[in-house]
Amino acid sequence: SGDAPEADGALSVLRRVFGYDSFRGGQQEIIEHVIAGGDALVLMPTGGGKSLCYQIPALVRKGVGVVVSPLIALMQDQVDALRALGVRAGFLNSSQDFDERRLVEAEFLAGELDLLYLAPERLRVDSTLRLLERGTISLFAIDEAHCVAQWGHDFRPDYLQLSSLHERWPDVPRIALTATATEATHAEIASRLNLGDARHFVASFDRPNIQYRIVPKSEPKRQLLELLRTEHDGDAGVVYCLSRASVEKTAQFLVEQGIDAVPYHAGLDARTRAGHQARFLREDGVIVVATIAFGMGIDKPDVRFVAHLDLPKSVEGYYQETGRAGRDGLPSTAWLAYGLQDVVQQRKLIDTSEGDDAHRRKLATHLDAMLALCEAADCRRVRLLAYFGQASPPCGNCDTCLTPPKSWDGTIAAQKFLSTVVRLKRERGQKFGAGQIIDILLGKKTAKVIQFDHDALSVFGIGADLREGQWRGVARQLLAQALLAVEGDYGTLVLTEASAQVLGGQRKVTLREEPERPGRAAKAAKP
Ligand code: ADP
Ligand code: ZN
Repeated sequence: SGDAPEADGALSVLRRVFGYDSFRGGQQEIIEHVIAGGDALVLMPTGGGKSLCYQIPALVRKGVGVVVSPLIALMQDQVDALRALGVRAGFLNSSQDFDERRLVEAEFLAGELDLLYLAPERLRVDSTLRLLERGTISLFAIDEAHCVAQWGHDFRPDYLQLSSLHERWPDVPRIALTATATEATHAEIASRLNLGDARHFVASFDRPNIQYRIVPKSEPKRQLLELLRTEHDGDAGVVYCLSRASVEKTAQFLVEQGIDAVPYHAGLDARTRAGHQARFLREDGVIVVATIAFGMGIDKPDVRFVAHLDLPKSVEGYYQETGRAGRDGLPSTAWLAYGLQDVVQQRKLIDTSEGDDAHRRKLATHLDAMLALCEAADCRRVRLLAYFGQASPPCGNCDTCLTPPKSWDGTIAAQKFLSTVVRLKRERGQKFGAGQIIDILLGKKTAKVIQFDHDALSVFGIGADLREGQWRGVARQLLAQALLAVEGDYGTLVLTEASAQVLGGQRKVTLREEPERPGRAAKAAKP
């Protein structure tokens, strides 16, 4: 590439081709390592600047850099952006017809490409492998490398066969990149991609400009609207919902409120999806309401907020999704509304999930870590970074740092709640969900209470000293602390082994106080 590529150092490529003055974070070390022919495993948060880590070595080394990426929808954009900089880039994926593919193949063989983007399934096709063998390859970059992790939510079976690249091309350096970074995923990537000798580069995962806030959910759409009106008027953002139905409902609600919002989920046809994504990327102030199908690889610098209306399944997922905010380094909000129903629903999803017990235990561990983050009374950022094995001092810019939640001794409240569950079971042979139990505690004579004669129970009305919202908080936190469990399809509550210790007075229960106005847990302070 260029006139004298071998003589062109990394820094001069950075300046001449990309127009940047200096490297960021660990980029320079990584780039030099790969230029020298070493394998690398790069863990860097979203927006950290992973692309240059393989693009520059591809330009400096002789031959074509082959980039494996699952993001077919973005390849055209990525290649166009590179071409605009004068980099000779092309791609091969299923969206092309025969002639388009032939053209790219001819360019590759003629040595007229610096970078070739490939969908992973292309490497299953023998003709692709034969094609690659006829050219000169400078490096293999494996983007979104966590797609090889089998229980991760982005698993792509085609990634498993990427381990064989090393056998076919033992002298070509490989660089695997991801923004997903627990120790476990990390190790799984290294082993599945056969990267035993690769050097690991782990960047700091702190995103100091993102303010993390987690609030109890009462009326999620209203709470979201308040957040948008008071702090993010006219800003671009992403709102994540668990189901397609709630994506549709939420988007429609926002539109009715005069907000420029579009839905995005896998149930929409490809053209609508592409259109909505394009509006989000190219226009100002568009809000995408989406399932987690949206976002991987989306590079929009000025996303000012990411809101979750449902609980993410894991801390990794939460970190990835919130990480799409604030790539430009300006103050941004990560806001999550979470409630009792989320815990019930997620536990149910795990119970009915496919896979063996070991898999279910793993999902439960992920959920528990997410719940611990939600119920944390100390700095969210400290918790989040600790999850990725990184230490940090309290940040001063998350909801718990700004408004430290008070904790209270909830032992008696917990005993009241748990003994209501016990009485229903022992005296009536019944199980109920949290709503009915709270109505009994509050002494509410609802139709359902009267129907089941629950006002005759000795526990009826024993919890009138707390508000309904406080009781919901008690139930949610008991579930989060595994002092209560969900059973069956209707979210009915049952005791756990640990509940007995609370009922017997051997175990104290410390709870977080519920805020009076849930949506307003903390007002944004500029970092
Ligand atoms: P990632 O893939 O890690 O999410 P990208 O490679 O898309 O991140 O980079 C994020 C943004 O930062 C891009 O807009 C990119 O152009 C910019 N960027 C990357 N490295 C540098 C640098 N050294 N100087 C300035 N901007 C950079
Ligand atoms: Zn903090």
